[in-house]
Amino acid sequence: MIPMSDSFLVDTHCHIDLFQDPVKVVAETDEHRVFTIAVTNAPLVYRHTADLVSGSRYIRPAAGLHPELVATHGDQLEMLPELLNETRYVGEIGLDYSVPDGSGRIAQRKTLGRILEWCSADGSKILTLHSRRAATDVISALGTSFSKRSIFHWFSGTNKELEKACSLDCFFSVNLAMISSAKGANLISRMPVDRVLTESDGPFVKVHGEQARPANIGRVIDKLASIWGTQSDEARHRVYRNFRTLLGSGVAGE
Ligand code: MN
Repeated sequence: MIPMSDSFLVDTHCHIDLFQDPVKVVAETDEHRVFTIAVTNAPLVYRHTADLVSGSRYIRPAAGLHPELVATHGDQLEMLPELLNETRYVGEIGLDYSVPDGSGRIAQRKTLGRILEWCSADGSKILTLHSRRAATDVISALGTSFSKRSIFHWFSGTNKELEKACSLDCFFSVNLAMISSAKGANLISRMPVDRVLTESDGPFVKVHGEQARPANIGRVIDKLASIWGTQSDEARHRVYRNFRTLLGSGVAGE
């Protein structure tokens, strides 16, 4: 049992490199001791992001290719295998069907399939997944190979899709925009408590006009606590425990 005083805040999906002053965000994240996964949208920005967070005890860089960038940045895909040797964390990856274009969706599925193939060779990879309007296809692409180590970021599928994702033993990272909407809050209330993580998805999500970032992830915790009918301390502790489960028995942040 982890003592309550030793539970840290967790942000499993933040675009640190996209803040106007990323160095400041890194310093602030360390100061607040928020374990953070710094996702990247394209292979070409991975090394820059890895350098940005290299001095941080709490932030780890993730290598990925955002599905919405597959059409324009797909030529960077071949850079990924080498980057995947450098980090345990993978994201942002997934599918986005808000583009109606059929051929674009095919290219996204191909890309995701290849990335998952590369990742399946290494049983320790942790994935942060985008699945807007495409949850069913992301779930079937994952199959059973990534249970307990894939995270649906900002899940917005149906209740049925949620059940399917749960049956694969996936995690879900929830942010302030999601938890503030009726649909999002309903989904969160249906998620197994031991599968919920927190994310900022900064700088895209706004908190009272301010950009969401690891340091204000406590606001997500407060809302989670009210959904769970518990105290914020207990909610924070649960999320941290879930994060530890995700990482395995090792020390958080490894
Ligand atoms: Mn994102």
